[in-house]
Amino acid sequence: YAAKAGGRRRRYSPELDDQAGEEARLGAEMRAGLDRGEFHLVYQPIVELPHGRVASVESLIRWRHPVRGHVGPDRFIPVAERNGLIVELGEWILRTACAQYMTWLRDGVAPDRIGVNVSARQLAEPGFVDLVAAVLAETGMDPGHLIVEVTETAVFGGGAAVRTVHDLTALGVDIALDDFGTGHSSLGLLQTLPVSILKVDKSFVDNVTMAGRHAVIATSLIQVAHGLGLVAVAEGVETAEQAAELYRLGYRRAQGYHFGRPAEAPANAGYGRHRAVP
Ligand code: C2E
Ligand code: CA
Ligand code: CA
Ligand code: CA
Repeated sequence: YAAKAGGRRRRYSPELDDQAGEEARLGAEMRAGLDRGEFHLVYQPIVELPHGRVASVESLIRWRHPVRGHVGPDRFIPVAERNGLIVELGEWILRTACAQYMTWLRDGVAPDRIGVNVSARQLAEPGFVDLVAAVLAETGMDPGHLIVEVTETAVFGGGAAVRTVHDLTALGVDIALDDFGTGHSSLGLLQTLPVSILKVDKSFVDNVTMAGRHAVIATSLIQVAHGLGLVAVAEGVETAEQAAELYRLGYRRAQGYHFGRPAEAPANAGYGRHRAVP
């Protein structure tokens, strides 16, 4: 292919082609994997500080691919968002999480609430609120037990996603703002969006025990949360030192490997009222 003089040589790039091909393959394999039952949910506790009572759990999706092995959600959720499969996958996630919650409830081992991650594309989908209402009705779950976790980017810029958030709130479902502090307008959103939980991103938690910027931001964020009457959850807490420092700063909810890794439902059955903190 003879490129015109001066810089228009990038008409064909095998590398880009490979990426597109890989994305298409992954998309098709997800589609098949959903039918073959290759996906499952794991659950991670969110505990109260300082005693460690499990307040809620967050559901997280896992994909066991027959050939690729474990594929992480950070890899396949963005693909599912782009090809639209997230709508069907998201419906399965919501149903599965609510059904699991009701099983725990019947067994007398349910935490107060369960959080489900919902992506931008799902929030913008016209039927999403109806779907949530239908799943709650089907499973017999009280809306007060459900938390929908949304990211700032999903609700940035208003529009359908913001209306969905309002409608979910009207239904009695609580909204958590995920990865809080990493978006473009974290504080701006709080002026109008009816959220009740701020999940303070791991990046602010990582260095909270060291004097410096992260600790200052972690401190400011808990003040904002409390000032607005919101609950702040510290994400990605990995050490006892971090937990102690977060508690000292005013955090009363935390999630992270220090308290419990995401685990399959059977391993999590028996969330007692007081689960010891390791
Ligand atoms: P996220 O919603 O911010 O979820 C928290 C992530 O941090 C999870 O990764 C969790 O396993 C991990 N994590 C928890 N505690 C710790 C810790 O102490 N240290 C470290 N290093 N990591 C910790 P995971 O499960 O790989 O999920 C990654 C992201 O994929 C999620 O981030 C979320 O954005 C997305 N995702 C996961 N499940 C779903 C789902 O069911 N639906 C949608 N739409 N997105 C999902
Ligand atoms: Ca989340
Ligand atoms: Ca998060
Ligand atoms: Ca994240």
